[in-house]
Amino acid sequence: MADFDLIVIGAGPGGYVCAIHAAQLGLKVACVEGRETLGGTCLNVGCIPSKALLNATHHLHEAHENFAKMGLMGDAPTVDWEKMQAYKQDVVNGNTKGIEFLFKKNKVTWLKGWGSIPEAGKVKVGDEVHSAKNIVIATGSEAASLPGVEVDEEVIVTSTGALSLGKIPKSVVVIGAGVIGLEMGSVYQRLGAEVTVVEYLDAITPGMDAEIAKNFQKILTKQGFKFVLGAAVQKAEKKDGGASVTYRLKKDDSEHSIDADIVLVATGRKPFTDGLGLADLGVEMEKRGQVKIDDHWATSVKGIYAIGDAVVGPMLAHKAEDEGMAVAEVIAGKHGHVNYGVIPGVIYTAPEVANVGKTEEQLKEAGVEYKVGKFPFMGNARAKAVFQAEGFVKILADKKTDRVLGCHIIGPGAGDLIHEICVAMEFGASAQDVALTCHAHPTYSEAVREAALACGDGAIHA
Ligand code: FAD
Repeated sequence: MADFDLIVIGAGPGGYVCAIHAAQLGLKVACVEGRETLGGTCLNVGCIPSKALLNATHHLHEAHENFAKMGLMGDAPTVDWEKMQAYKQDVVNGNTKGIEFLFKKNKVTWLKGWGSIPEAGKVKVGDEVHSAKNIVIATGSEAASLPGVEVDEEVIVTSTGALSLGKIPKSVVVIGAGVIGLEMGSVYQRLGAEVTVVEYLDAITPGMDAEIAKNFQKILTKQGFKFVLGAAVQKAEKKDGGASVTYRLKKDDSEHSIDADIVLVATGRKPFTDGLGLADLGVEMEKRGQVKIDDHWATSVKGIYAIGDAVVGPMLAHKAEDEGMAVAEVIAGKHGHVNYGVIPGVIYTAPEVANVGKTEEQLKEAGVEYKVGKFPFMGNARAKAVFQAEGFVKILADKKTDRVLGCHIIGPGAGDLIHEICVAMEFGASAQDVALTCHAHPTYSEAVREAALACGDGAIHA
């Protein structure tokens, strides 16, 4: 008899959710994790520590910019970087310990160490080999760099180094205008650093609805960000205690360089499957290094599944979690399902940016006839009261059926507001369904309703 019904390799949001859910479904489960703590990239060096720093620096910004406007007088706070780092670590520890508790509660065995798969049905951790009826690969991803850019995690850093810098830098060059670069750039910009973002494409946040991306860039520029777009980074080198980034502008091939205390390489992440022994097992891989899977997360080798950042799709914690739940269901003989058409994306800057479903560009390309309902936060009383009236809600709906096809929000609480539209899309709702739903006043959510109204006869407060 096998030692376990299921061994999950990797305890990130994909792996730990899969392990817990499989245990809930009655399976005997173990989860292998090589880190000292559970929770993967997300809890240790990703989503959670970055949001802690974004939270702390957002309050700092509010104190400097808005407190006096509300009659809150007195000296604005100064920054104790060590304490801010300790706060961030406390948040991380609380969350990683929480997963340990959940493992115990659900009787998931944590096999501590780095795992490999010597043959189907076997997982080796250290010197021990455990047998399992099923194996799920949930080994996640690691930061990708560029040729000519050597990361030392002190001066030339990935997001991991950027979360734990020894001191607050005076200047930062961020290579890559994606989510992680802009979030970490925001942290240091609010702490007083001069932040320059160098991006290969001609727009920030590739793949996002172009109108939102343009507005987002405008708002960040107003906050003090500098952007160099259409620039191919050639190299980054350490220099005089800092570093220098050399780039070539695509429009005229001219070469430029820029110096900074810190260079953050935020050019994306790549799947991490090193040391698992997948090539020897004959597990088929995608061209870009992900584990190849079918519609039920099964790899080409029977009994081995893969989820999360290690497979294709958006590299997001909640996508990994959903796949973890779904593959646990499949392994337990039920029907796991993930609706890849309704996976929200959020950027936790201030203002927040959130999206779900199709962009205007995608609808145009697919030849879908659509209508746009937009509402600015300037018409939302609550947003105005908290000095966050920049931005807008944009709903895209099918021109004939009124079915909601996508939503894009830039503004206060966007990361929470978007879920109303996620639920609407899951239920196949029309914009009118959203518009006819009573929304409490005064809330930011009213802006979503107004955008839905704007898909029909028109918004009230616009
Ligand atoms: P991971 O979280 O990477 O976990 C994989 C785990 O497997 C790791 O702990 C690793 O140690 C372990 N492992 C690997 N190989 C082995 C092995 N052979 N044996 C044992 N253990 C192994 N996503 C969001 O949705 N929202 C955000 O706000 C967000 N912010 C982010 C901010 C930053 C700075 C970064 C870097 C990422 C962020 N992400 C965010 C992305 C998110 O962290 C990932 O999408 C998510 O963690 C992927 O989950 P996963 O379970 O697939 O893998």
